[in-house]
Amino acid sequence: MTRFTIEALRDTRLPIYVNGAYVETSGDAIDSFDPVTGAPWCCVPDCTTQQVDDAVTAANGAMQNPDWRDLTQSQRGLLMLKLADIAEREAPRLAALETQENGKLLREMEALAAALPVALRYFAGMADKIEGTTIPVNKPDMLNFTVREPLGVIAVIVPWNSPLFMMIRALAPCLACGNAVVVKPSEHAAAGVIAFGELIAEAGFPPGVFNVITGLGQTAGDALVKHPGVDKVDFTGGPATGKIIARSAAENLTPTALELGGKSPHVVCDDADLDAAVNGVVSGIFAAAGQTCVAGSRCFAQAGVYDEVVDRIVARAKAIIIGDPCRSDVQLGPIALWSQVEKVAEFVESAQAQGARLVHGGGRPQGLGQGWYVEPTVFADVTNDMRIAREEIFGPVLGILKFETDEDLIEMANDNDFALASGIWTRDLNRALRFMRRIHAGMVWINTYRSPSVMSPSGGYKDSGYGKHNGFAAINEFSRIKTVVIDHSGVTQDAFVMRVTK
Ligand code: NAD
Repeated sequence: MTRFTIEALRDTRLPIYVNGAYVETSGDAIDSFDPVTGAPWCCVPDCTTQQVDDAVTAANGAMQNPDWRDLTQSQRGLLMLKLADIAEREAPRLAALETQENGKLLREMEALAAALPVALRYFAGMADKIEGTTIPVNKPDMLNFTVREPLGVIAVIVPWNSPLFMMIRALAPCLACGNAVVVKPSEHAAAGVIAFGELIAEAGFPPGVFNVITGLGQTAGDALVKHPGVDKVDFTGGPATGKIIARSAAENLTPTALELGGKSPHVVCDDADLDAAVNGVVSGIFAAAGQTCVAGSRCFAQAGVYDEVVDRIVARAKAIIIGDPCRSDVQLGPIALWSQVEKVAEFVESAQAQGARLVHGGGRPQGLGQGWYVEPTVFADVTNDMRIAREEIFGPVLGILKFETDEDLIEMANDNDFALASGIWTRDLNRALRFMRRIHAGMVWINTYRSPSVMSPSGGYKDSGYGKHNGFAAINEFSRIKTVVIDHSGVTQDAFVMRVTK
């Protein structure tokens, strides 16, 4: 029987998972809130530097343990396939735990939990296909080849919006490459990631391959990033935190991969299928209550269809059913954090003060008790200088901007610090591809939006970070190349001259 159900965890202090076992801790803890009621439901330990050190030491121990270090690639893949089967079985429970702690729709969290076994199977299949190369170096008497090795211990730091989904895109390639991992979930939403330890144990991974520590970013997170036993930090979260982490990691020359925020342009051209485009824009900003890094929060509508796009989006926003995220008819759940509710309110105020036209929402819905709900909010006549067009809100707030020509569009869309995702709706494929070439964004969706795949690299440019998750690109992130040179000439070389290639 699992101990990790919502009812079993209610009003408890969650354990951490270190060296293959759950560890009860004492000391400081942080309340985790249920966004539906606004009340705390459990708490997570604020791990001490010693506890962080224990987890990193366990992970380093796993890297030296023959049970992990000497597994063949195919054996690693098989272990991951076993984990995938368990994750598939447990997906509904994990999804429910995550909805409890971040308030996102249960059916959205179920879809993300169903992606866990998919990611594990995809990278399990890759485990025995990670190869080096043989390089003809213009020296016939030498054999030069490369091998790919695991990096070692990877610190995986994830935010609260989709903890397991964010974790698996690092964990799965990390395991395929033979690394060990210390995960630090957000202090606001840790239960799902902690529960994952049970699955790892059942699959039979050696102790220390997977560890979870919890706590505040400035304490436990900082201790993890600065730990000399960490070989790479894989961070998903806000841009300000990303910069702090890159600086801290640099002290030990620890490499980082940063998946940060976005202010993604979502374009509706005058030749678009408007039904599909408006549906895409609504989904891009109101799904997950806008709490997604790829939220299409800047809608660029072309002048010829601008008024119609505004009207249609408002009509759709008005019809959105707000309420308990576990109800199957609900389309917009609460916001995960009270501080985010306040942030949305502040942006609504600033947008109005800067002259944007509020065409829907802007407040908090009535009749939903103490829940942290905000209305789907739409501003029209937004201009590129307004804060609502420049900064990430991470809530259900859409700004609509008007553009005339494709040249204006590119100039406005690229005039932003972020460059994560982008979308364009048009029936003209040439036009879409011209946009694809010129837009500053790590991802471009054409006549679709929010359509990720574990098989397709994801990651941003500019302030949206660097490094790639998903696809074979992820293997490059979590492995390194060792170069091997063999001299088979049998000739003793001049001891004082380097044997450079001519
Ligand atoms: P956050 O940056 O506040 O926190 C993310 C994680 O970092 C948490 O686990 C936190 O405890 C930890 N952390 C904070 N300070 C730290 C420090 N000094 N050292 C080490 N760890 C530290 O972000 P959040 O509010 O949890 O999440 C929202 C942000 O995440 C948004 O900006 C969103 O765009 C971004 N995000 C990006 C992606 C992506 O794939 N690009 C995906 C999801 C979310």
